[in-house]
Amino acid sequence: MPIVKYTYDAALHREGTVGRRGGCSWHGQEACAEQPTSSYETPNGMMAACPRAEHQIEDLYGAPAIREQ
Ligand SMILES: [Zn+2]
Repeated sequence: MPIVKYTYDAALHREGTVGRRGGCSWHGQEACAEQPTSSYETPNGMMAACPRAEHQIEDLYGAPAIREQ
């Protein structure tokens, strides 16, 4: 099942999560000071991803389906 990639949108992330707060949830806010550029729907939930995380996520899960909001 392909993962889905969206332009980063805080509203896609649940209340109280790093992604909702504008942080990179793939690396965690302590480890990563970069702004997320994409939101990914993955088997492990919604992930907010900085550009570095985008590469890591797509390496791990494969090419995403792209959704426009
Ligand atoms: Zn990051």
